[in-house]
Amino acid sequence: MKSRERRTRPAATDKPQANGTKRAQTQGARLSAAEYADGIRAGNRTILAKAITLIESSRASDRDLADEVTDSCLVPGNNSIRIGITGVPGAGKSTLIEALGRHIVTDCGQRVAVLSVDPTSPNGGGSILGDKTRMNFLASSDMAFIRPSPTRGILGGVAQHTRDAIALCEAAGYQNVFVETVGVGQSETAVRDMVDSFLLITVPRMGDELQAIKRGIMEMADAVVVNKAEGENLPAAKRAQADAQNALRLQPAYTPGWKPPVLVCSARFGLGIPAIWSCILDHKRTAAASGWREELRGHQRLRWFHDNIRDGLLQRFVSNPLVRERIPQLEREIAAGHLSAVSGARKLLDSCLSGRSIRRR
Ligand code: GDP
Repeated sequence: MKSRERRTRPAATDKPQANGTKRAQTQGARLSAAEYADGIRAGNRTILAKAITLIESSRASDRDLADEVTDSCLVPGNNSIRIGITGVPGAGKSTLIEALGRHIVTDCGQRVAVLSVDPTSPNGGGSILGDKTRMNFLASSDMAFIRPSPTRGILGGVAQHTRDAIALCEAAGYQNVFVETVGVGQSETAVRDMVDSFLLITVPRMGDELQAIKRGIMEMADAVVVNKAEGENLPAAKRAQADAQNALRLQPAYTPGWKPPVLVCSARFGLGIPAIWSCILDHKRTAAASGWREELRGHQRLRWFHDNIRDGLLQRFVSNPLVRERIPQLEREIAAGHLSAVSGARKLLDSCLSGRSIRRR
């Protein structure tokens, strides 16, 4: 158990996690859990950014405080909308989020948060500067909060922190939370698992290879949006819309009782944006009325709980001194073909788990 004094000391050695939070991270002393929670609930964006940096921290000494902050910000049964946006790079995801966000802020008077998940980037991908450049309106709006990808190398870690970041954004009053996948083919399932509505953004005249990627993702989509449907692209966009509609007819809907529609829009020119937002609201109503929304969120929380047990066990196991000592020899034997991988793993687990506790780092 760590003392409060230790929790609140200045974080002089903390490394900034992302450009946008560097200032907040280096400003003043570490906050207590109550100060974080109060600041977040008051909608203080600097404290929100700082809290997300805290939950992204890989330092074991930050864990207790991060958990306390996250737990105290949970709002069971909240009325937020979590929207996942996926599609190949260049499809126009950021442009669409900017257009939808502008509509939500200016026409609906609601707040918007944007988080992104990029498992491929070595340093968190999409610097905050990059994200801000792509979302000028949202970046300068008091009603919006934009957060780039966390600096984790593995998808599990990225997804875990993004889930917590969603909860913090909701506690800060952002009812509409967009989660954008930045990498392609790796983060879709993780994002699908943390949102209520999942939109696939596609463009007219997509190549065969991309179509194949798209097919797997379509099964998880609550709506498909054909972007760049303007000017001379329009006929091709209509064809892409019909193709997607046919493909969707052949598969069961992800959300029971909901037929995923295929919409066309031009994010750059702001065409078809209110219809996409209406579709998201319709989906929310349908899912809420049938009880699916709460059921889905419950399933997602449980899966997250079990993922954390699995990841936590693995992490504690491989950091145990006895395990670390034994692994190199076993690896040599397995690589040389003198020992099977299965029996090597069993030997290690049996010898290291029997009667010895796997201590926390
Ligand atoms: P992302 O990689 O999926 O986030 O795509 P971006 O939003 O960064 O957009 C990629 C490129 O497509 C940029 O040059 C955008 O200006 C452009 N773009 C986005 N939406 C549209 C659109 O509706 N029409 C046209 N013509 N270009 C668009």
